[in-house]
Amino acid sequence: MTINDYKFAGQKAIVRVDFNVPLDSEGKITDDTRIRGALPTLKKILADGGSLIIMSHMGKPKGKVKAELSLGQIKDAVAAALGTGVKFAPDCAKASDAAAALKPGEVLLLENLRFYPEEEGKPVGIDKEDPAYEDAKKAMKAAQKEFAKTLASYADCYVNDAFGTAHRKHASTAVIADYFDKDHKMLGYLMEKEVQAVDNILSNIHRPFTAIMGGSKVSTKIGIIENLMDKVDNLILCGGMTYTFAKAQGGKIGNSICEDDKLQLALDIIEQAKAKGVNLVLGSDCVAADAFSNDAHTQVVPANEIPDGWEGMDAGPETRKAFAQAIEGAKTILWNGPAGVFEFDNFTGGSRAIAEAIAKATANGAYSLIGGGDSVACINKFGMADKVSYISTGGGALLEAIEGKVLPGVAAIND
Ligand code: AMP
Repeated sequence: MTINDYKFAGQKAIVRVDFNVPLDSEGKITDDTRIRGALPTLKKILADGGSLIIMSHMGKPKGKVKAELSLGQIKDAVAAALGTGVKFAPDCAKASDAAAALKPGEVLLLENLRFYPEEEGKPVGIDKEDPAYEDAKKAMKAAQKEFAKTLASYADCYVNDAFGTAHRKHASTAVIADYFDKDHKMLGYLMEKEVQAVDNILSNIHRPFTAIMGGSKVSTKIGIIENLMDKVDNLILCGGMTYTFAKAQGGKIGNSICEDDKLQLALDIIEQAKAKGVNLVLGSDCVAADAFSNDAHTQVVPANEIPDGWEGMDAGPETRKAFAQAIEGAKTILWNGPAGVFEFDNFTGGSRAIAEAIAKATANGAYSLIGGGDSVACINKFGMADKVSYISTGGGALLEAIEGKVLPGVAAIND
C-alpha cells in the first residue's frame, strides 16, 4: 500500500514521525526541520478527510517520565505548522478515548513514546551479566508487543514517516506493523523519499560514482567503505581518517588523530581498492595546526610529513584539487563526513571545496546525496542546501542503509 493509494477519508491514521527536535532551556524549538519534514504526509491525510494520531519520541528518557522531554512542549508548534488545532494525550498508552473521539480532520499528538521502556523494548534496571537478564528480556519483548498492540488499537491504518529511527526495531517503528494487514500500513512521503535516495546510491547508479567519506574515524565507517568498494569508481577518504592511512604507509603524522589499532585495516582498504579498480583518493597535503583550536598557528605540509607538535586539521590545497577532480566529473555522488574540523571556521576549506565540487557536478546533472549530521551541517553552514539533489534526514538510519543492512522500520511495512 502507498500513501497516494490509500483512502484516508473517514479513517484514523496513526503516524510515526520523528519530532525529536532540539529545544532550548525554555522548551522552544531551535530547529524545526524534522517537523517540516513530516508535513507533506500529515497534511495529505488531513486533506483526504482522515484524522491523525501523531506519535514520536523525544530525547532519551530511558523509560521514565521526564517533563523536559514532554512532547506537550511542541504541541502549539505542530498546530501552527499544520494550520489546525492539535489535542494532546498526556499518556500515550492510555489514549483510546481521545483517539476514538477524533473526527475527520482532527489531530491528536501522543506523549513521548519513550516514557515507556516498552517502546525500545530493552529491560531497564538490570545488568546484562545478571542471570535474570534473559528472562527480563523475554518479559520485556512480550510487554513491547502489548504496547504496540495498544498503539495500533487507536487507528485504522499505520503510516511510518520516521526515517531517523527506521534502523530501530521499536514498538512504534516496527512491532506495531504486525497489527495491521498489508493494505493498512504504508511508508509516508519522507520515508519514500529516503528509501528512493538510498536506492539511487546502491542500485540505480549512474557512472562515474564518487563517494566521499570523512569524519574522525575509520572504525565507524568501515562497514560503509566495504559495501561501497564494490560499487564506486572513485572513493575519497578524508577528515581524521587521513592520518591513520598516512601512518599505516609509514608517514609522520605528529599529533594528528589516528587509530593505531586500524593501521592494518587501512592497508587492507588500499589493497582492496587496487584489486577492485577503485580510484582511492587520500589526502596528500594538509593544513596542520599547533593546537586543536580555531586560533592555532597553521601551515600547509604533506599529510605524511607533519612536524612534531602539529596536527592535521583540514585538507590542503593540492588535496582539495584532487577531491574536486574526482567529484566534478561524477554522475552519482554520496558525501558523508567532513574533510576537516569544520566546527572551527579556519578549518572548513576542505569541506567547502567538496561542497562546491558537488554543487558543480549537480548543476551538470549528477545525483548527489548528502547524509550524516556533520556533512549536512557543512552544507547548511555554506548555504548550499539547494545546490545538491537530496539531504537525508537520517543519520544512523542512512548509514546502516548504505552499509546494506535491512532497516526494520522499512521491512515491517514492505515484507
Ligand atoms: P564522525 O562523527 O566520525 O563523522 O566525525 C565527525 C567529526 O570529525 C567532526 O566533529 C570533525 O571535527 C572531525 N574531524 C574531521 N577531520 C578531523 C581531523 N583532521 N582531526 C580531528 N577531527 C576531525
